Amino acid sequence: MLTSLKGRSVIVTGGSKGIGRGIARCFARAGVKLTIAARHRAEIDDAVAEMNALGATARGAICDVTDYDSVRRMVDEAAAAQGGLDVLCVNAGIFPQVKMVDMSPEDWDHVMATNLRSTFFTVKAAIPHFEKAGKGRVVVTSSITGPVTGYPGWSHYGASKAGQLGFIKTAAMELARYNTTINAVMPGNIITEGLQGLGEDYLKTMANSIPLKRLGVVEDIGNAALFFASDEAGYITGQQIVVDGGQILPESLEALASI
Ligand code: NAP
Repeated sequence: MLTSLKGRSVIVTGGSKGIGRGIARCFARAGVKLTIAARHRAEIDDAVAEMNALGATARGAICDVTDYDSVRRMVDEAAAAQGGLDVLCVNAGIFPQVKMVDMSPEDWDHVMATNLRSTFFTVKAAIPHFEKAGKGRVVVTSSITGPVTGYPGWSHYGASKAGQLGFIKTAAMELARYNTTINAVMPGNIITEGLQGLGEDYLKTMANSIPLKRLGVVEDIGNAALFFASDEAGYITGQQIVVDGGQILPESLEALASI
């Protein structure tokens, strides 16, 4: 049994939908003070209502993670409203699919800005609050795509997700002086609104390529985030954990077929 996180102050970027909403649910059930940050008000409000019903004291914040001023304002206001900041979940991200032959420089930059530059922005904005508290936790949502696997159409996405893992190594060293850890969860294929947009065929083929024979649910990632945020994980930093139902394990199609 992990020490209770009740009353801790938590931010989840991209907490209005998908994996971020799953992370938010896991923290809400633990009774935290919670800020859900995203761009669209209606979805934020819906998520805030759900989190309050689950046991959180939740609030919403409109924030575009590609804009540093927007991120800094969101983090400062969350800390002011929640009596400081204990846990930052850096989760907002996008995964548009486009092969390199058709990819424009703007496509590349947009994915990098949303997924990778935003990771730096969000962590940077939180540093003064961790310094003030003398402790903190950061949990980054990376992916298996990029660090471990490839998929046509996701060269920019994969690079951004691998970049997050590169970022946390040095960030872990710089945050250590604030008694703050930073770790990453690497989801496999998790059922979210974003993933459903890739179509039924994609979802079916994916489920068949996973040894546990199902796509993940958002709480599978939320529970891993909850562990990294716990007091008990306080000596783990700069690390990552794959949560993918065994998807990256088979050496070949034959290995998968022989399960
Ligand atoms: P999703 O269902 O599309 O949700 C994305 C969330 O991010 C939404 O809350 C969205 O809200 C927010 N967001 C997007 N752009 C933003 C911006 N510029 N500023 C602020 N918020 C923004 O996606 P998901 O599948 O849950 O993915 C979430 C994270 O998990 C991403 O980092 C993704 O790379 C990672 N991941 C997902 C999977 C998977 O299988 N689903 C696998 C591996 C990794 P707004 O649109 O309102 O801003």
